[in-house]
Amino acid sequence: MGKRLDWVQEELDSLKASGLYNRIRTLGSAQGAWLIVDGRKVLNFCSNNYLGLANHPKLVEAARETLLKYGVGPGAVRSIAGTMDLHLELEQRLAKFKGVEAAITFQSGFNANVATIPALVGKDDVIFSDELNHASIIDGCRLSGARIEKFAHADAADLERVIRQNAGTYRRGLAITDGVFSMDGDLAPLDKIYEVTNRYDVMLMVDDAHGEGVVGRGGRGIVDHYGLHGKVDVEVGTLSKAFGVVGGLVAGNSQIIEWLRQRARPFLFSSATPPADVAACIAAVDLLETSTELVDRLWENANYFKAQMRDMGFNTGQSVTPITPVMLGEAPLAQQFSRELFEEGVFAMSLGFPTVPQGKARIRVMISAAHSREDLDQGLAAFKKVGKKLKVI
Ligand SMILES: *Cc1c(COP(=O)(O)O)cnc(C)c1O
Repeated sequence: MGKRLDWVQEELDSLKASGLYNRIRTLGSAQGAWLIVDGRKVLNFCSNNYLGLANHPKLVEAARETLLKYGVGPGAVRSIAGTMDLHLELEQRLAKFKGVEAAITFQSGFNANVATIPALVGKDDVIFSDELNHASIIDGCRLSGARIEKFAHADAADLERVIRQNAGTYRRGLAITDGVFSMDGDLAPLDKIYEVTNRYDVMLMVDDAHGEGVVGRGGRGIVDHYGLHGKVDVEVGTLSKAFGVVGGLVAGNSQIIEWLRQRARPFLFSSATPPADVAACIAAVDLLETSTELVDRLWENANYFKAQMRDMGFNTGQSVTPITPVMLGEAPLAQQFSRELFEEGVFAMSLGFPTVPQGKARIRVMISAAHSREDLDQGLAAFKKVGKKLKVI
């Protein structure tokens, strides 16, 4: 036997030794406030199912009906074999919901970034990227071949400094930021960022995966939150978080969307999401357009939970959204905290490097409209018990 694969086991062992090995739990139930995890019923503080739509009867029914009519698969790539009317309907509905001219959907939010960025910039161009941008943005940036210049997190003044420093060295400029930062739950200062990109005539793209269905009026996203309609060139989003299904989207002016239909590689070379999922997404838009009830409940739950956690003495970081980081420092402590919570019947995962910076390990609690007040109180009691036991509070 050769030794050419020995490094794999060595790498895995080193992850385990440093407390960074991720033991993935097995779910045996539908998404909701409670889950069967590794055979045990536990309170769900993990998923991005912000509005409880992942198992909502209206979405399930829409998917079931469509499944019987359209079958399970999309058949082929949309640009080659034709696009189902359902995908176009979803895109029109999303554009209307978000108040933009047009939208295009992808197989996932990750794909939406990897599709969009290389279609907008290439090797003669430069990307101005928030230093904490999501991995899929980073990969999209690398794939584009454009030069990547980072600016300090959520800092419009630093963005301006970096743009000025690079003046005259590029053909096209593109600034990219997450809307809601998924590890900390803070918001990009998109209004200030827009002022800068507009002044220097740089394109502006925001990835609003955690803001879609959460921030803005009735969950219309971060552009709506700041009232920047028509000013942000490209809005990327996901249908897998608050929308409860799966898929990615890009919303913007009709020329950019038309360009993506011609040039975005995951659109041209990978099949679309299945029709039943698309129908479920349309049902999600229906719900969001009809009522703000779920979005309102999400925020009530989040505000209650965060206030109680802070009262108990936990450090919940910079969050201004339902994402609630519980800062613990070193990865082994965060992992132990997560295990102890699980023993108390609460499923809340720890996050360590490379998902978050070294020394900034945490438990990330994801609050949902699906949680009742009793659910949240039960979760809070578990945090209190484990927090005292591990001397965090
Ligand atoms: C989750 C997330 C994505 C990926 O979305 P998927 O639809 O799960 O692929 C992209 N960008 C950001 C900022 C995210 O938080």
